[in-house]
Amino acid sequence: MDLILKNARLTGDDATVDLGIADGKIAAIAPALTADCPAIALGGRLVSPGFVETHIHLDKSCILDRCQITRGDIAEAISESAKAKAAFTPQDVYARASRTLEKAILQGTIHMRTHLEVDPGVGLRGLEGVLPLIKEYAWAIDLEICVFPQEGLTNNPGTEELMVAALERGCRVVGAAPYTDTDPPGQIDRVFALARRFDVDIDMHLDFGATADAMDVEHVCRRTDEHKYGGRVAIGHVTKAVRLGMPEFERMARRLTDAGVALTVLPATDLFLMGRDHVDDHNVPRGLVPAHKLIRHGVNCSLSTNNVLNPFTPFGDCSLIRMANLYANTCQLGTRHDMRACFDMISTRPARLMRLDDYGIAVGRSADLVVLDATEPDMAVAELAPVLYAFKRGRMTVSREPAKLHRP
Ligand SMILES: [Zn+2]
Repeated sequence: MDLILKNARLTGDDATVDLGIADGKIAAIAPALTADCPAIALGGRLVSPGFVETHIHLDKSCILDRCQITRGDIAEAISESAKAKAAFTPQDVYARASRTLEKAILQGTIHMRTHLEVDPGVGLRGLEGVLPLIKEYAWAIDLEICVFPQEGLTNNPGTEELMVAALERGCRVVGAAPYTDTDPPGQIDRVFALARRFDVDIDMHLDFGATADAMDVEHVCRRTDEHKYGGRVAIGHVTKAVRLGMPEFERMARRLTDAGVALTVLPATDLFLMGRDHVDDHNVPRGLVPAHKLIRHGVNCSLSTNNVLNPFTPFGDCSLIRMANLYANTCQLGTRHDMRACFDMISTRPARLMRLDDYGIAVGRSADLVVLDATEPDMAVAELAPVLYAFKRGRMTVSREPAKLHRP
């Protein structure tokens, strides 16, 4: 063996065990392992498979200093980002994206799907800035790219050709933002056609708005059925669903489950941008989809970061534990069971969304692990437990000293 993690507490297990790692994989899980190799004493702390981020925009992260936020709504976020985007160069994107990626790695994220924009304005410059990171950071994180048209597809000539070029250059997922298209169902159909042509998965921004008018979710489910794409389609935001009555909401949940469409909630963005059209700034309604209720109907839901330090979300430490805590707090979840569900929405559930067969703690699986300063997953969410170590394919990628008190 190459390394032993001593006295680890695994998610859902009361007893502590030792984890033996060899050739990048988990080689043994047993009490009191011994071998002639280095060991790290964890003192009963929680070891979890690393966190999985399925929805983050590396290309437009860290541009707050180039943008104005006055109204704080979606339209302003798109137009301010578009203005900044016009000046993006691959070098500029590379510098900001690597900074954000490193923050995510330091927070224990070991798999990431980043959503990158192409359109005639920015061309492929965002993609060119991020592509090198896949290889350069492979020692710490598996990064895949979802290419999507933020500023319209059917009404934005030249965009589809750029999406094709991006898919030809190795993007593994195709995305959408039908809410900026003059023909939302038309955009969805084009995106399914691209997915079929390149045999890639789909991850769309969908039904991002303040009212339940003209929702596209049923259209996506129908196309998923027709193309037999169940298990390969995810949708993000869906804030319009907050305005549905409970019977319609439950009907949507059952439809998503039947079609095999996963749903990602982006708490930081959805809380920041929604409700800006409210009549005054008092008792503002929020647009955060109650994913935990969808899960009860069988929908695979995840929590993700979406944006970092830009007009969509002027916050961001790239901590998925913080996202789970934010979601639990704003959705009024306080039981151990519910907080455990929030932990699953940043780990096992997004892993299933990304179809990561090798994910999880079991002998023979890749040793992609985090050690948290907690003993239980639910308490890690409740206490915002810091990541003390991260490992990618068995190699330590992050270590962090617990904070110390210096008494007089
Ligand atoms: Zn997004």
